Formats: sequence, structure tokens, C-alpha cells
Amino acid sequence: MIIVLKPHATAAHAEELVRDIAAVGLKPLHMPGAERVVLGALGDERILERLHLESHPLVESVKPILAPYKLVARELHPADTIVSLGGVAIGGDRIVVIGGPCSVESAGQLTTTARAVAAAGGRILRGGAFKPRTSPYAFQGLGREGLEILKAVSDEVGLPTLTEVLDPADVELVDRYADGFQVGARNMQNFRLLQAIGRSRKPVVLKRGMAARIEDLLLAAEYILAEGNPNVILCERGIQGFDSATRNVLDLTAVPAIKARSHLPVLVDPSHGTGVRDYVAPMAKAAVACGADGLLIEVHQDPRLAWSDGQQTLDHLEFAALMRDLEPFARAAGRAL
Ligand code: PEP
Ligand code: MN
Repeated sequence: MIIVLKPHATAAHAEELVRDIAAVGLKPLHMPGAERVVLGALGDERILERLHLESHPLVESVKPILAPYKLVARELHPADTIVSLGGVAIGGDRIVVIGGPCSVESAGQLTTTARAVAAAGGRILRGGAFKPRTSPYAFQGLGREGLEILKAVSDEVGLPTLTEVLDPADVELVDRYADGFQVGARNMQNFRLLQAIGRSRKPVVLKRGMAARIEDLLLAAEYILAEGNPNVILCERGIQGFDSATRNVLDLTAVPAIKARSHLPVLVDPSHGTGVRDYVAPMAKAAVACGADGLLIEVHQDPRLAWSDGQQTLDHLEFAALMRDLEPFARAAGRAL
């Protein structure tokens, strides 16, 4: 339920109501706004009737949260959420570009690309140490060694890092080395993993599963918020279609559709979304134009030699050119780069 308090309700009144809500066994939420205090009560809504809030002198209205994802829904939280990933604000005025290789291959490889990403204006470094590969015979990532490289390069180059965690058992390990968790498309509904990440406070980029509806993505995010981690960033990365001209169908409609339903920031990954290097830049511009808060882009010094996803990876010059070309699209969308 959403409980809107009257304008003269004070913080002390709100606290008292929060205690009352908790006392009947519901989970209370307290959202002080610029004009009104809004409270939430999660759980069996019939229990709330015991408090007779409709007739409470300080309560203006009580209405149900219609969305099945309560914490993720914009109904309860009308303002956009800004998530800080290693000090970089995602969801605010500036478009955030996260760049880097699909996989961490070596210290030399990652340092070179991290420098190129930073020099071009990328603000977060990506790189997978645990890789979810379709084939068990493909390169699976360097594991802990990859994380060590990621951390060392981050310290040297000064970019915060985002890396995938595949297994709930690795959450603590990845937490020690990276500034943000990535949950990949293949794990979007790995509910144990979502819950383990929810127990951390570290930001998480949750990628849309390749056969997941937007509602499934938002409910997956709800798992993380329900465990107490509010720092969730959603990512559209393409869904499976029938056309082999592209690796996936990059569903840019997801950007306004998610924003209509949720307050969480939204990224777009045109690398996995298209699977084709030449299509990455045009779709990156389109993503910024339609309201994405940032981009996730695969970059490598020599994509032909990349250990994974080379066919969809930009080289350093292509990435720098894209960063320059994005500027008017960001401006047109009322944002800065
Ligand atoms: C990746 O970012 O390298 C990745 C594996 O992405 P996805 O989960 O979207 O396939
Ligand atoms: Mn990849």
C-alpha cells in the first residue's frame, strides 16, 4: 500500500506510523519527498486495515501498489533513482559509458584498453573474469586472477569497475575486487544469485534475459531490492528473435517501457544487442536518443584477437569516435556526456 501523509505531518509523525506498520507485521518504507512524506507497507494488505489509516488525521490517502514489483515500481517512488557505482552517478544528468573488453585476458591487455576507455571519456571499466559461455569448451574467464588484474588496473588507471558474478558462492570474492556486480542475461532469473547480491550493498547491473519479458526483468530486480540492496541498474541487451542477421534483437522500446514502470536507471548494451561491430555505434546513438542513462560497450585494442566476442567489439579508435559522435545525441536528449 502507498500511504500519502498530509502536508503538515512531521518526521516524528511519520516515524510513529512506520512503527505502527511494523508492529502489525508489515514491512514499512519511508520515503520523505520534497512536498509530501510517502510511506509504504509491504505484505498482506488486509492486515493494514487493522490500523484504520484511511481515517487517521495525518493520512491523506491510502492506495494499493498495483505493480507486482513493489520496490522497483515508479508508483511508490516517482523520482528517478541515481545509483553511484564507484563514485560515478548513473541515472542523473550525465550519460555514463561503461567500456572495456568482454573478458579480462592479461594485465597488459586490460591496462591498454582501460587507458583508451578513460581517454575517450568512458567512466567505468568493464571486463569479465567469470564468463558464461554457450559452449563449455570456450574460454571461461581467468577467474580470481582476472579479478586481481581488474583491481590492479582500476587502481592504476582510476576507473571503477564492473564485472560479472556467475555463482552465489563467488559474490563475496567479486565484492572484494570490483565496484559493481554484473548479473548476465543467462542468470537474470537465478534467484539465489539475486538474493545473495541483494544482501550486499554494492551496485548491480542486471541484464535482461534473452527470453525475458520486461515484467520478468523488473521482478528479478525486485528480488535484489527485497533483500535490502537498492542499488540496481537495469540493462537492455537484446532478446532472441528469428533473424540471424543480428545476434539478438535490441529492444530499445524497453528503455521508455521500463522508465514508465520503474524508477531504476536503464543502460543499453548495443554490443551484445547486435553482435555486429558495425551496428554498435548507430544503436548506441539510438539508445541515448531514446532516454537510456548509459551504455555498456565492448572495447579491445585488437578485436580480431579478443578471446571472446571480438565480432561485436570496437577497437580504441572506433570507441573514441563513438564517444565524440554521441555528444549531440546526449544533448538532444537533454543530457550531457
Ligand atoms: C557480457 O557482458 O560479456 C555478457 C556475457 O553479457 P550478456 O549476459 O548480456 O550475454
Ligand atoms: Mn561479451
